[in-house]
Amino acid sequence: MTSPDAVDVDQPLAVDLPAAPHDASGERVPIRDLAGLAPAARPARRWTPGRVVATPAALDHPHGQRIVERVQAQGIEVEHLRSNRLTGVRGQTDRETYARAKATMAIVVSPPSRRDLQPIAPSADWRVDLAEGCPAHCQYCYLAGSLSGPPVTRVYADLDDILAGLAAYAGRGTVTSRNARRADEGTTFEASCYTDPLALEHLTGSWRRAVQHFADWDAPVQLRWTTKYADVGTFVGLPHAGRTRVRFSVNCAPVSERFEGGTARVPDRLAALRRLALDGYPVGLTIAPIIALPDWRERYGELLDQVRAAVDGVPALDLTAELITHRFTPGSKEVLLGWYPRTRLEMDEESRTRKHGKFGAIKYVYPRDTMAELREWFTAELAARVPACRILYWT
Ligand code: SF4
Repeated sequence: MTSPDAVDVDQPLAVDLPAAPHDASGERVPIRDLAGLAPAARPARRWTPGRVVATPAALDHPHGQRIVERVQAQGIEVEHLRSNRLTGVRGQTDRETYARAKATMAIVVSPPSRRDLQPIAPSADWRVDLAEGCPAHCQYCYLAGSLSGPPVTRVYADLDDILAGLAAYAGRGTVTSRNARRADEGTTFEASCYTDPLALEHLTGSWRRAVQHFADWDAPVQLRWTTKYADVGTFVGLPHAGRTRVRFSVNCAPVSERFEGGTARVPDRLAALRRLALDGYPVGLTIAPIIALPDWRERYGELLDQVRAAVDGVPALDLTAELITHRFTPGSKEVLLGWYPRTRLEMDEESRTRKHGKFGAIKYVYPRDTMAELREWFTAELAARVPACRILYWT
């Protein structure tokens, strides 16, 4: 019999969602002056989970054991579960449940459905998951519309099997491989769809192993991920063979300061981008979500100037940009307002255009004129301010 308090940790996040303010974990979004781009003078921001659990199945995998050792070496206790169900996440209130879940990391085996890779347009040919969930508190978080339930972060112990399974997909790309402008990237694998890799790397070591796997894979393939963190120290100096593109998700100051709780500061992310670019990695910007603030031209102009400074003088720079405007669905709005009831994020259906996405799902995007103005501006200003940057797509 299953406890009503139990969360099945070997299933995709699929639970009902509670309400909580964005600072439920105690994190606050600091308001800072973003001028200047000096590399971080302080240690990279690192998540310390309040609770780490491991399922019995996860401990049967060498990488599960490696994660346990890594976590324990950081002075964090690992609770060994008797089954694949996790209890003690649900609190007295929804707010408490949210806070407990966000502070919890579960070491689990990936659900079988995750091993059957799906295309992930427009980013990559295939989506590969090494984890699911994220400790940050972005008030627009795209996971809100995709996942449900107490947002426990699950990290996958069967990494070796996941990576070994990728070979079957090489040369079978259906997204970037079919795009004449991007075919030179090879078969692409996106490893940050449901998580933020650099938020978890110090606890798992998973993405470092993935970089090494792609470096050793002598074929036209590319690993890709995007992050709002800056903890790149363990990637610098790693043989990567240019087969991993790390993109940094950045935004203008009012958006990042107001809405991206628990993440690294944008200047730190850009300093990290510079470090990797100097180390020969292909790098990228994910400018998302682009929000049409009243003074968006000025604010995003400041961001592009910061980017220009960050890549100044980098030899053989390979820099791309992915431009994603803000959108929401009825489901994601409901979940986000539950998580962040005091949010000032604009999600007004009346001022948006209603569109039907894949499988008929409704989404609200900016009206056509606003979209056109944004797109024209970003295209022109990126070309003018950061001419080395190639735009991969706009959406
Ligand atoms: S960093 Fe990404 S996944 Fe994590 S809370 Fe923010 S938007 Fe969501």
